[in-house]
Amino acid sequence: RGGVPERVIPFAQPGSTTKVIAVASGKGGVGKSSVTVNLALALAARGRNVGLLDADIYGHSVPDMLGVGEARPTPLDDLLLPVPVLDIKTISVGMLKPNRSDVIAWRGPILDRALTQLLADVHWGDLDYLLIDLPPGTGDIAMSLGQKIPNSEVLVVTTPQQAASEVAVRAGTMAGIMQQQVIGVIENMSWLETPCPHCGRTHRVELYGSGGGQAAAEALSAQLGTEVPLLGQIPIDIDLRSGGDEGDPIVVAHPESAAARALTDLADTL
Ligand code: ADP
Repeated sequence: RGGVPERVIPFAQPGSTTKVIAVASGKGGVGKSSVTVNLALALAARGRNVGLLDADIYGHSVPDMLGVGEARPTPLDDLLLPVPVLDIKTISVGMLKPNRSDVIAWRGPILDRALTQLLADVHWGDLDYLLIDLPPGTGDIAMSLGQKIPNSEVLVVTTPQQAASEVAVRAGTMAGIMQQQVIGVIENMSWLETPCPHCGRTHRVELYGSGGGQAAAEALSAQLGTEVPLLGQIPIDIDLRSGGDEGDPIVVAHPESAAARALTDLADTL
């Protein structure tokens, strides 16, 4: 338009060998960003080249979870170099703001441009995986991504709760409309393992109920007419939460924990 050359998104080119996986959820707070960050690090621990694009305009919590909250990409010619951290490369939509505390009140077309910039104007290098942390819900960014990279795949994160599971299905339905493949559902915060105050043995407490991941997988399978599996369940773990707060992600800080092992097993399915 207007003589401006169309910018090339390398991941959308025929022959691109990068697997682009967008992580979606119906609503916020289900652990989508935590899951995305830890999956990226688990893939990197397997020796893969991994990029992590934080496209969650409302949350953009990925840099803090990785301990690089103040980092900015380095300009190189007319490209940006993503921030290297813990064996992955990352860039966040929040890094495009002049100040950290600025509120992003962008509308559709500007969001679309920002997403193009993060995909086309960043020197990602040769990636095996590009994970994209989408904003919650079925908004402009999810649609733009489906248009820009039609071969991108979608992972849906939900909690076991019925209400969360129902809105998660909508995020997957959107992916189906954009003709993206929904590769599976991840249930997060599935249970908390805690010693019983009475008998001392370890019990699983299902704080958020149960069955939401399975229900979302079944509903999406029926709706999309293709098998959408429940790929795995991640327990509630205090170290997962504190690792996110402190920029010390659990798969690196506590790889032996049940939550980190669940995340690593999940990464092996991608
Ligand atoms: P979303 O990206 O869906 O908004 P976040 O990843 O920001 O969700 O997670 C919301 C909060 O829940 C964060 O404080 C995070 O540390 C915490 N959290 C996420 N998953 C778990 C888990 N399995 N166990 C404990 N805390 C978790």
